[in-house]
Amino acid sequence: MASRALPEAPPEIDSELSGVVREATPHRDPPPTPARLALWVENVTVSFAGFKALDDITLEIKKGELRCIIGPNGAGKTTLMDVITGRTRPTAGAVYLESRDHEISALPEWRIARMGVGRKFQRPTVFFGHTVLENLELAQAGNKGVFANLFGRARGRERIDEALVTIGLTDLRDQRAGVLSHGHKQWLEIGMLLVQDPKVLLVDEPVAGMSQQEMEKTAELLSSLAGERTVVVVEHDMEFVRRIAQKVTVLHEGRVLAEGPLQRMQEDPRVIEVYLGS
Ligand code: ADP
Ligand code: MG
Repeated sequence: MASRALPEAPPEIDSELSGVVREATPHRDPPPTPARLALWVENVTVSFAGFKALDDITLEIKKGELRCIIGPNGAGKTTLMDVITGRTRPTAGAVYLESRDHEISALPEWRIARMGVGRKFQRPTVFFGHTVLENLELAQAGNKGVFANLFGRARGRERIDEALVTIGLTDLRDQRAGVLSHGHKQWLEIGMLLVQDPKVLLVDEPVAGMSQQEMEKTAELLSSLAGERTVVVVEHDMEFVRRIAQKVTVLHEGRVLAEGPLQRMQEDPRVIEVYLGS
């Protein structure tokens, strides 16, 4: 497949020759950053001993977007998250954060995290012996640099209070994390990302094992985070996807099979065949 160009700025209209479209000046190197993109994955391939887990994937995610990524087992969803967070290097292609100047696919994992890409794994990684508040403090301390000085510490404190409200755990702040319900643990972990103030949040199967009510609250929580932040969710639970999705990307065999509003995806015969019909 031919490599796909990123959208270019529209050609300028010369005011003196109104209506005449001037030839766009040739691009300098590097080409311009597409406006308002938070994250883009450009022609990424990941080969494991010749097997393509990702095969020439291009994805553009706007700032503030809430994007759902769905697809059958083995489609490449986790590999995609691994590439974005720097855990796996692409064999070809690149990943950019906000600007052409920020190619993150060349950076180590910790630097990508510090640049504002937070990831929540499926299994909660909270410290069970510590309280909710302590877990949030530890998560924030782990992201050195942002809240290191005196002013930063005050701001960090505010962020923790805000995060407690956002995840609905203010009243449980002194509770040990080990005794929280499954849903509360998942929300605590989202809080542990929020206190680090990420620009982009990647969330892997957030509602697996949740009750209906917890699922609904998680949908509300993630929807409320979008706008200010960019949220990318990998999820199998179609009711959850239905509740939150603005735009859905369907992966299949390492490629983008289809992309668009959920309703359209549900009516797409290719999607029905590989995923929804199964
Ligand atoms: P998904 O998360 O959509 O279920 P994955 O990204 O985990 O899919 O896997 C995509 C494909 O790549 C699968 O066929 C999987 O077996 C393969 N794969 C993933 N990681 C590795 C690896 N480290 N080595 C070899 N094959 C892998
Ligand atoms: Mg997976």
